[in-house]
Amino acid sequence: MGQSGKTNFIGIDLGTTFSAMAFIDSFGRPSTIPNSNGNNTTPSVVLFGADGIIVGEEAVQAATMEADRVAECAKRDMGSRHFRKSLGGKQLPPEVISSYILKKLKADAERRLGPISHAVITVPAYFDEKRRQATVNAGRLAGLEVLDILNEPTAAAIAYGFHRGFLKHGNHDAEKPIRVLVYDLGGGTFDVTLMEIKGDHFRTLATDGDVKLGGRDWDEKLVNLIAERFIREHREDPRQNQESLYDLYRAAETAKRTLTEREQALVVMSHVGTRFKTTINRADFEGATAALLNRTRITTEIVLQQSKLTWNDVDRVLLVGGSSRMPMVERMLKEVTGKDPDRSVSPDDAVAQGAALYAELMIQKRGLGTAHNQFSVTNVNSHSLGIIGIKPDTGRRMNRVVIPKNSPLPAMAKMNFTTHRPDQRSVLVTVVEGESEDPEACTPVGQFMVRDLPPGLPAKWPVQIVYQYSENGCLKVNAMVAGQQQGASTEFVRDNSLSDDDLMAWGQRLKSSNDYFAV
Ligand code: ADP
Ligand code: MG
Repeated sequence: MGQSGKTNFIGIDLGTTFSAMAFIDSFGRPSTIPNSNGNNTTPSVVLFGADGIIVGEEAVQAATMEADRVAECAKRDMGSRHFRKSLGGKQLPPEVISSYILKKLKADAERRLGPISHAVITVPAYFDEKRRQATVNAGRLAGLEVLDILNEPTAAAIAYGFHRGFLKHGNHDAEKPIRVLVYDLGGGTFDVTLMEIKGDHFRTLATDGDVKLGGRDWDEKLVNLIAERFIREHREDPRQNQESLYDLYRAAETAKRTLTEREQALVVMSHVGTRFKTTINRADFEGATAALLNRTRITTEIVLQQSKLTWNDVDRVLLVGGSSRMPMVERMLKEVTGKDPDRSVSPDDAVAQGAALYAELMIQKRGLGTAHNQFSVTNVNSHSLGIIGIKPDTGRRMNRVVIPKNSPLPAMAKMNFTTHRPDQRSVLVTVVEGESEDPEACTPVGQFMVRDLPPGLPAKWPVQIVYQYSENGCLKVNAMVAGQQQGASTEFVRDNSLSDDDLMAWGQRLKSSNDYFAV
C-alpha cells in the first residue's frame, strides 16, 4: 500500500455519529479506508455489553437489547468530566468512550495497511480548547500518537483543493485567491466556515457553528411526528419505552434518508407487540424541521458578516456532512448564496481525506517521511480570549475580550487596565474563553497573581496585559505594572479535562482488561 517501511499514519474524522478514516496511497492520493464491514463510515457507537465492548455497526444492532449500555454521541460531551449517561452503572469520561471508537478504526485500518502509529484527528472548528485536548487524549488512550488536531472545515477544503489540483508543486500564488464556504451539517454538530485558498495556502477567514445541532435533531422531529400519530391511533406514547424509542429513532433515520431520494417514505415500527405503519411526505418533514434549518441559515449569514465579505466574494459552496444531502439544505443555500453548491468531493469522505493529506505533511515536518503534497494552513481562534476586570461605574465583574474570535493564529494583543483601589498590592489576572461580558457565561482558562506591588500606589495605576496565543493552543499571558521592573507571566496550555494522572490510570485500565465494565 505504499507505506511499508515508513511511519504509518492515517487521517481520522472522529464524528459525533459517524467516523471515517483515510490514508495516502503510493501516488500521493488520499483514499478512504473501509471498515471491517466494507463501509466508508463507521457509526460512533460503543456498546459496553455484558460480554465485552463492541463498536460500530454491531453496536448499533445490539443497542436495542442493551440500551442502558450504549454510548452514542460521546463527542457532544467532550470536555466534560463524565459522559451524560452511566453505562452498565459506570460513569465514564467521554474521551474514554471515544478512545474505543478510535481503537476500532485503528484496528480496521491495520487489517489493510499494517501497524498504524500516527494520526491526525479532526474536530469542529467551533470546538474550544478543552474539547480539543480531550480529543488528543482519546487518541493517546487508543495508542495513537496524535500528530495534530485539524479543523474539519479546513480538512474538507484541503481535500477539495487536492481534487482541484491546487496542491501540486509550484502552485504557490498561481491563481487568484478563491473563497470557499464550507457548510458541514453532520449528525450532531454544525459548522460553517469561510476559507480562502490562495495557491497552496489555506486560510480560515471566519468560522462559527453549533455543537448541539445535527441530523439527530432532524431525526428527533420525525420521531415526535411518528409518535404523535401513534398516540392518536393507540392512545399510548411509544417514546416512554426505551426499546420502542430506539426503534423509533431507527425508523425515523431510515425514513429521513428515503426522503432525501423520494417525496414519500413509509415508516414501519413496533411498540410492545403493536406494529405501526405511517407515510411521511417530504413536506411534512420539511415543515417539522424548518426551524432547525433556519438556525443553520442564520449562522451561515453571521459568518459572512464576520468576514466582512459579500456573497459575490465567495466562489464556492462546499457541502460536507451526511445531513447536507437533504434537499432542503441545498435549496436554502442556493437561496442565501445565489450559488449552486459544489458536490465534487463526497460529503462523507472529504474530512478524513483532508486529515490524511495534513497528516502526511505533519509526518514530513517531524522528519519521519516526505509529503507528496505541499501546502500550508493558517487557523483562527474560534472563541474569544478575554480577561475579567471590574467595571469602574458599577463595580461589577465583566469580561473584556483581548483576542477576538476569528483572529489569525499566532495572535498577540495588548490591553491597558488600571488598578481598582488605592494602595492595591496585588492584581489577580483571570483568563476566560467566551464572547459574553458576563463572566459566568464564559469558560475559565486560568488565573494568576501579580504580587508585591509597592505600597502607596494611587488607584487607577496602569497595568498592561499582553496575550500571546500560538497555533497549537498555548496561551502566554504577561502582566506589567507601570514603574515595576518585573511583571508576572504564566503559560496556559489547553486545560485538560482529564489530568495526566487520570489519563495514565485510564490507559492502564484500558490496557489491562477489556472486561472492566462487565458487572
Ligand atoms: P458526523 O460527522 O456529525 O458524525 P456525518 O457527517 O457522518 O455526521 O453525518 C451523519 C448524519 O447524516 C446522520 O444524522 C445521518 O442520518 C445523516 N445522513 C446520512 N445520509 C443521509 C441522507 N442520504 N439523507 C439525509 N441525511 C443523511
Ligand atoms: Mg462530520
